[in-house]
Amino acid sequence: MAPIFRLESVTRHYGERLALEIPELVIEEGGIRSLSGPNGSGKSTLLGILAFLSPPTSGVLYYDGKRVEWKERSLVALRREVTLLHQSPYLFEGSVHANIAFGLGIRGMRGEEKHGRIEESLETVGLGGFGHRRARALSGGETQRVALARALALAPRVLLLDEPLANVDRDSAVVIRAVIAGLPARGTTVIMTTHDPDVPGCSNGEVIRLEEGRLSRSRDEVATGRT
Ligand code: ADP
Ligand code: MG
Repeated sequence: MAPIFRLESVTRHYGERLALEIPELVIEEGGIRSLSGPNGSGKSTLLGILAFLSPPTSGVLYYDGKRVEWKERSLVALRREVTLLHQSPYLFEGSVHANIAFGLGIRGMRGEEKHGRIEESLETVGLGGFGHRRARALSGGETQRVALARALALAPRVLLLDEPLANVDRDSAVVIRAVIAGLPARGTTVIMTTHDPDVPGCSNGEVIRLEEGRLSRSRDEVATGRT
């Protein structure tokens, strides 16, 4: 099976500043991969490239065995397979339901199927019945869970999560961890940045570690030994 992502000689500059420099990185499909490293080490930059949101300055990204052409037309299709959950997700003014419905509508989903998908995803994150709530009036933890529900509703092949456990209350963190743990069984590959030692899968999963934009990968960097 082809790896889901392969990076070759990828760099990303912001102006003069080199934020990422990865000679080679292969990420297999399936499971939960954690992406660690200090602040400013390039984690979010890497996720932005993997989400097809911002191109590398140089180098090549392969997705599912195919070279990514950074042209809007092909990116639209790719972005339907890979979803990024931002560290501070944006919910627009309106109901929780409308926020989740938006992306589904773009994908042509309508009526009962759409409503079912929305309710199911809210229940998955423990917010069944929250559809009518005003999205901008939710707590931080609820916002993060709605954003996760919105991502899940899209049933992505790959879900990228940027610090999904930062800025959430303890109860929300418990729910979010459990949902993430269940994703590989649903066929979703997970890549997440986190400082949380209790992330399921990370104790025996592979850690991709960045330092100053460079890979310092270690397979034996076991989070805590807990499962
Ligand atoms: P991390 O997510 O690991 O904290 P980032 O990928 O956000 O790291 O940032 C990597 C480096 O790139 C940092 O030095 C950061 O200041 C810089 N950087 C990130 N985004 C931008 C931007 N939009 N403009 C300029 N510099 C940026
Ligand atoms: Mg970041």
